[in-house]
Amino acid sequence: MFSCEDLRAELSHILDEDVAPEMREKIRHHLSECRLCTVLVDSTRKTITILTDTGSFELPDSLSDRLTAMIMEKVQEETKK
Ligand SMILES: [Zn+2]
Repeated sequence: MFSCEDLRAELSHILDEDVAPEMREKIRHHLSECRLCTVLVDSTRKTITILTDTGSFELPDSLSDRLTAMIMEKVQEETKK
């Protein structure tokens, strides 16, 4: 069973579009059923796009990890309401 934890573990690959086809299918299926992960992927992607578009700088891994954790917290708060 593909869980939210599994999706989070794959998040950086998802954002890089660096996912094997069978994994992509699992992710797609999970996202169709899980609003939390949909919002998580969308907001993380948008945030990274905004940050990387403002300058031609690569997001360091440590920063994108922290960013993802921050967004995850926000998303979890939002979906609790
Ligand atoms: Zn999920």
